[in-house]
Amino acid sequence: MCGFIGVVGLDSVVREIYDGLLAIQHRGQDAAGIVTYDGRFHVKKGEGLVRDIFSAANFERLKGGLGVGHVRYPTVGSGGGEDAQPFTATYPFGIAMAHNGNVANYADLKRELAEQGHRHLYSGCDVEIVLNVFAATLAIEAKDGFTIAAYHAAVGEVYRRVRGAYSVVGFVAGKGLFAFRDPFGIKPIAFGKKEVAGKTAYAVASESVVLTALDFELLPWGPPGEALFVDLEGNVHVEKVAEPKPHPCVFEFVYFARPDSYLEGASVYRARLAMGVRLARTFAATGLEADVVIPVPDSARTAALAMAHELGIPYREGLVKNRYVGRTFIMANDGERKRSLRHKLNTIEEEFRGKDVLLVDDSIVRGNTSRQIVQLARAAGARKVLFASTAPPLVHPCVYGIDMSTRREFVARGRTHEEVAREIGADAVVYQELDDLVRSVTDDHPEIRQMCTACFSGDYPTGDITPEMLLQIEDERLVPRA
Ligand code: SF4
Repeated sequence: MCGFIGVVGLDSVVREIYDGLLAIQHRGQDAAGIVTYDGRFHVKKGEGLVRDIFSAANFERLKGGLGVGHVRYPTVGSGGGEDAQPFTATYPFGIAMAHNGNVANYADLKRELAEQGHRHLYSGCDVEIVLNVFAATLAIEAKDGFTIAAYHAAVGEVYRRVRGAYSVVGFVAGKGLFAFRDPFGIKPIAFGKKEVAGKTAYAVASESVVLTALDFELLPWGPPGEALFVDLEGNVHVEKVAEPKPHPCVFEFVYFARPDSYLEGASVYRARLAMGVRLARTFAATGLEADVVIPVPDSARTAALAMAHELGIPYREGLVKNRYVGRTFIMANDGERKRSLRHKLNTIEEEFRGKDVLLVDDSIVRGNTSRQIVQLARAAGARKVLFASTAPPLVHPCVYGIDMSTRREFVARGRTHEEVAREIGADAVVYQELDDLVRSVTDDHPEIRQMCTACFSGDYPTGDITPEMLLQIEDERLVPRA
């Protein structure tokens, strides 16, 4: 999970990119970078939060009306500063590129690039693979000069060779901004424009909230498999390069995306409300009863509110989060994650004491976080602790860029709901049904016909995920989620 923004059409784009990165900081807190162009590349990357990496002096230096920025959550790679995006290639023309996703056949392509193309990668970041495949084809197709057709050929070659899920933004120096996503459209993307002092600026970002926060008007993004190019004159070129097979990630709606974002035209907030209503019905059907609903902040809040309303019991903010401690999911290692969780959540004891409490979280991954939260609830005096998950049991690894866990580590794998409850110390666990989760998104948006649900169902939409790839991806996992 990462976030990006690309902007073209202003005299200077660095401020827009910086503000955009702040708006998608939730998608990655590990590293960030901005590359701009004004006749030469200007690059600034670093590890940590956006606000800590970029200084006033960087704003002065990052000149130009064409640029891309990125916040990183590490998937493949060492996770060091050398893996921070965007990446650049000097040939042909000069290209900058950033992505959100995961190249499933990374090792194969790395070997092919070395053996056949005599190209060696600078980092362990998989966007460098996409960049090399793209640049190699663009160099051939645009040998007599850059054309949109050459760009489409380069995107087509990426589609042909690169497996997995990827939304990509970048620019060709002196030519324009580009963006595309793989034909399965697993990762989100948004496109917008705004008028500034008589000029039209265009931007692409990995969530709509970035664009709306910057006062861009959202423009429709077509089916996945299309390639977008906005040239320096402001002409927008959109072309279908591959047949669309859309399967947007359902977990974006559960956890990753900001509630004020729209993905595939669907409101994340409204989907989370619907998840709460459906989960309430599943909970009621079990015969379990609770005195109060308490969300695990922040992602589960919206669903918990709807759940309490549907069940007709009070909703209370019994867990208070220290917002200055980052998302535990995105912490760089397990020790850091455990330490930060202890500092992150505190209880308001009055909301727990002597009550049967229904805790609502977005998901249960390895169970460590859930176990600590259940312990907090018991320490605060809860009589019973029931635990509801707005997502179904997570039992399969995500090969599309989400480092949730490896198969061996999922607490729900090979366990009944009762056994999971025992593992996390709860009196009972209630999970969302998978069909209910998908329908929470699609009932209001029948145009979204299919979604990626692979981490729950094992049904990988790209259809080309071999057991060897799963093992390889597990070996590469850096940051198992708590
Ligand atoms: S496997 Fe799960 S987290 Fe990964 S893209 Fe599919 S639905 Fe999203």
